Amino acid sequence: MKIVFATGNPHKLKEIQEIAGDTDIEFISPAEGFNPVENGKTFEENSYIKAKEAARVSKMMSLADDSGLCVEALNGAPGLYSARYADTPQARINKLLKELEPHKNRNAKFVCAMTLVDENGEIIFQTTGECQGKIAYKQAGTGGFGYDPVFLVENTPKTMAEMSEEEKNEISHRGRALRKVIEFLTK
Ligand code: IMP
Repeated sequence: MKIVFATGNPHKLKEIQEIAGDTDIEFISPAEGFNPVENGKTFEENSYIKAKEAARVSKMMSLADDSGLCVEALNGAPGLYSARYADTPQARINKLLKELEPHKNRNAKFVCAMTLVDENGEIIFQTTGECQGKIAYKQAGTGGFGYDPVFLVENTPKTMAEMSEEEKNEISHRGRALRKVIEFLTK
């Protein structure tokens, strides 16, 4: 079964493909012209906007995720604005560590909402996945992307960037959400 995965982020497409590894689902990039306006107020809304846009350009069943990092001491920031918190991935990490300097509470979670739509953009299934952890004082590891080097995964001594791809996919917000989508599609 071919499903469009609504992203321009090659890291995400690779992660998704690996998580779906032993199923007969093949995720492909959206057709030319994919240009979603992510102006929703929640992760769910933004994932729906992206999935609908992918279905519009590709005329196929489409799945989208919208994800972000929510930090307790920052009242949930950067949250929906995780990708736009500063100009580069490193600048975003630096800003986060700086903002958290005065705080002892380092609790954080990654959240991922997923929306699956049919070829007409109608919602078939929606779900979310979360991964709890803490923001480290210093970055460590070179794997993954985004905030992975400063995200210490709950009940482990590792940042997400210190995990293998398999380890990350097992516990990540995206892995958890996608396994629910796969269960829905294959039941
Ligand atoms: P999206 O592409 O609109 O879902 O933006 C998500 C943003 O949240 C990314 O650009 C990253 O900054 C951050 N993010 C989401 N998932 C992860 C992850 O698995 N690791 C690290 N950062 C992530």
